[in-house]
Amino acid sequence: MRLSPSVEAIPRSGIRGMAALAQGRAGLLHLEYGEPRFFAPEAVRRAAAQALLAERMVYTPTEGPAELRRAISAKLRAVNGVDVDPERVFVTHGGVGALYASLASVLGPGDRILMPDPCWPNAVGQVLTLGAQPVFFPMDPEHGFLPDPERWPVDGKTRAILINSPQNPTGVVLPRTMLERIAAVARRHGLWVISDEVYDQIHFGPPPVSMLEVYPEGTLAVYSFSKTYAMTGWRLGYAVLQPGMQAHTTKLVESCYSSSSMVAQIAALAALREVGQQEIDVMVVAYREARDRALAVLEQAGQKRYVPEGAFYLMLPVPAGTSSEEFARALLERKDMVVVPGATFGKLSDREVRLSLASGADAVAEGVGRWLELREEYLRTRA
Ligand code: PLP
Repeated sequence: MRLSPSVEAIPRSGIRGMAALAQGRAGLLHLEYGEPRFFAPEAVRRAAAQALLAERMVYTPTEGPAELRRAISAKLRAVNGVDVDPERVFVTHGGVGALYASLASVLGPGDRILMPDPCWPNAVGQVLTLGAQPVFFPMDPEHGFLPDPERWPVDGKTRAILINSPQNPTGVVLPRTMLERIAAVARRHGLWVISDEVYDQIHFGPPPVSMLEVYPEGTLAVYSFSKTYAMTGWRLGYAVLQPGMQAHTTKLVESCYSSSSMVAQIAALAALREVGQQEIDVMVVAYREARDRALAVLEQAGQKRYVPEGAFYLMLPVPAGTSSEEFARALLERKDMVVVPGATFGKLSDREVRLSLASGADAVAEGVGRWLELREEYLRTRA
């Protein structure tokens, strides 16, 4: 008897790996988890509590109730600037479910998909479980973590491109001109673009442009309630599919988990209807403050760094000749702080570690200070 080789091919998550090393140690500075520290807005919790007392919790339509899909369609118009028929909205088990519904709807064994390095590792794991092959394109820190689409190695087996903006783990937002260059490559070769936009409402400058606007005919877009509304544990997201795809994706999701949680869907409807922009802004301002404090500490030390424009992460380099795992372990052992080694996100990012800005401005500023100290110590022992 053997276990599934495609599952065995998935690398172990470096995020959980560091957390395991840190387990049981008190007094650590935790900067590893990409999770808001806020409660979900009160209207969300109240709607869920009332529904739990008043209603039977049953299966819902696989693609989500019509009322929620209509509300999501209205959100897409108001926030993302795209006109999407509710028929194209597919409610899923978290953003991760929307990503899987999108990838598994279009990829088969042996297909290739272009993916960023660095990349959120769960996306890589999903591609591998499908028997498909990730082909990584660099998002080089030397070039502000932006890709160079005209150089991507597209071949006869390439079916899709994955992009993520604002991005985990860099916080980079792809500008419209970059999306247009990516769309041109996709059009030329007839490729799907899976656009992970789960951080669409967490940005520190102008709102990110949706790929649905730039490449409407071939984009499958992925969204979530987790980040915008601090609802990670509620497990609710949605995909925007192409017209006519719903029956296809319904077969897939029906086979995997029947339907998303009813109580979470009731809560999500309340989030869309009752939570104002001001409540979201409170959280975004906190992430921006953490980013600004981090950049100020760096600037004071004479370190120039790119500026994350969205999501809630910052990548910091490790000293040359050191692996990100080694440096992350040293930060834990010698500076009592937990970060994620960049190797978790790809080969190229082995030169970086990731700090989560969701940990709060004081914690992040303190963390950047400790990172600077350890880096100095490394450089001094080498000199
Ligand atoms: N996509 C990216 C880039 C993420 O960082 C995450 C969560 O960290 C997700 C998708 C999935 O979010 P969810 O919690 O809604 O499954």
